[in-house]
Amino acid sequence: MFPKSKRPISVVTGGAGFLGSHLTDRLLAEGHRVIAIDNLITGNTANIEHLAGNEDYKFIKHDVSNYIFVPGEVNHVFHFASPASPIDYLKFPIPTLKVGALGTHNTLGLAKDKKATFIIASTSECYGDPLIHPQREDYWGNVNPVGPRGCYDEAKRFAEAMTRAYHRYHAVDTHIVRIFNTYGPRMRLEDGRVVPAFIAQALRNEPLTVFGDGSQTRSFCYVSDLIDGIFKLSMTDYHEPVNIGNPREMTIKQFGEEIRRIIGTNSELEYRPLPVDDPKVRQPDITLAKKLLGWEPKVAFEEGIVRTIDYFRSRVT
Ligand code: UDP
Repeated sequence: MFPKSKRPISVVTGGAGFLGSHLTDRLLAEGHRVIAIDNLITGNTANIEHLAGNEDYKFIKHDVSNYIFVPGEVNHVFHFASPASPIDYLKFPIPTLKVGALGTHNTLGLAKDKKATFIIASTSECYGDPLIHPQREDYWGNVNPVGPRGCYDEAKRFAEAMTRAYHRYHAVDTHIVRIFNTYGPRMRLEDGRVVPAFIAQALRNEPLTVFGDGSQTRSFCYVSDLIDGIFKLSMTDYHEPVNIGNPREMTIKQFGEEIRRIIGTNSELEYRPLPVDDPKVRQPDITLAKKLLGWEPKVAFEEGIVRTIDYFRSRVT
């Protein structure tokens, strides 16, 4: 722990979101003071209400696509603001592009001005519908820039390019984390992603809506593992992108069957059309993270899913 006068000050954009709020909790537990910024378009104050009255925490309602003013010292900037589920960025394509582009520019400018380290939440979407499996950091991706997911994928690819430029040109101490599918408490029940969708449907005894034939794969990481990897990465002097995720891969059909088994429901699997450009496979190669950070996921799938179900149980009506 740090002496009171030496405690780092971290800015977390998207601080009321799923990942931003968990990151905030971790930073506070590590002895940081946290300034969270969020415009609440997909973030939710319920995720931060437990921090009310915490003197090490401050919340600012602001859209970081506009100029950011933070008085005083800042040591770390974590740029985690963005709609992040396919239905959210379909609903908000322009804010998604703006927060990935203008928001990254503004948060990098803040980091440069304050001589702070900078960490951008990038994504496995940079790999698009990948032609290499599992995905390693040196794969450049297969992204459709003009498809429905393009607004998110290209904004994040731009964000990575901007981040590297600030490192090269302005010598800002930057880090890029490519986040793979993550789940856990504080996901929004209605955000459309497969984890909250299937859990809510199973708890209501409704059919589970499998898109396509369910043969597409994803690899799900529990949120505490993800945050641990991100925190460790932020403390290194490594500047290239790093995958953080859980390599345990499964098909969406298998995922649906697991949810049915764990919840013990009779819900059928109901097949729906596959959304345009839905990636067919996704699995992180985490060799780099293991070597660089001594990190790997610890939470078993069933344990993480049970914790997530417990969170959703009281929220499903
Ligand atoms: N999916 C599904 N049913 C749903 C929601 C999603 O079958 O109700 C599928 C979706 O088509 C994709 C996978 O589950 O193949 C993961 O979707 P999600 O939106 O969670 O994240 P993505 O990895 O596509 O960004």
